[in-house]
Amino acid sequence: MRPDHRAHRLYVEASLRADADVVLSPEQSHYLDRVMRAKIGDAVIAFNNLDGEWRGHIAETGRKAVTVHLDQALRPPAPQGRISYYFAPLKQARLDYMVQKAVEMGVARLGAVMTQHTMVSRLNLERMQANAVEAAEQCTMIAVPEVLAEQKLEAMLARRTADEVLVFCDETAPVTSPLQALAAIGPDRPISVLVGPEGGFSDAERALLLAQSNVIVLSLGPRILRADTAAVAALAFVQAVCGDIT
Ligand code: SAH
Repeated sequence: MRPDHRAHRLYVEASLRADADVVLSPEQSHYLDRVMRAKIGDAVIAFNNLDGEWRGHIAETGRKAVTVHLDQALRPPAPQGRISYYFAPLKQARLDYMVQKAVEMGVARLGAVMTQHTMVSRLNLERMQANAVEAAEQCTMIAVPEVLAEQKLEAMLARRTADEVLVFCDETAPVTSPLQALAAIGPDRPISVLVGPEGGFSDAERALLLAQSNVIVLSLGPRILRADTAAVAALAFVQAVCGDIT
């Protein structure tokens, strides 16, 4: 899958085109120069959402600035998929994990949702963004998912579009086949997957969610999963029925 296992794969914001010399950020330069001990001529793969994926090589090294010369386009920009992932934020280590895993599972968008039992009041968006970029670099994807600012559950629901399907992961739902439940989603419709906080949704929130139009209540089996596990399980089912795991 990975075009070149030895190449360093980096998300680069600068515009990528043939023969461009791209100066990497101080953090990326430090990483390549000091941590990876990269040498002039080493292969680099650079990508971003607008320009796709490019192959290049290190043209200049230095602790503060490493320059990459781009040689050829490898893959065109990828369309963002139709799956958004909404979740009640968790404490830092689990949140890092959940963001990375959701990116690996191929979501187009990630958004924290504040609920009654959410234990986290402040969110480090930059850190979420950095986790999203790092996961995208590792898993050969081209389009880094968008990271939304946190919002209240009611606000997130109010912003839903008419054709959007809400996949509400509910541990109190009767245990039925997730594959069958998701089969009702037609092609092309945007899909929002929602996982609650460690303390679960309140009764009022559950009632609000069940009253939504176009809602699918998803059971992930007879066990109560931790939220970060529920994220991976739910997204695997959704990708298998409606996405790119086919
Ligand atoms: N209310 C629970 C735990 C919540 S688990 C308690 O404290 O006992 C955190 C979230 O993961 C839930 O809000 C739900 O969205 C999701 N989840 C966990 N297990 C699930 C299951 N078996 N089916 C569907 N969703 C599940």
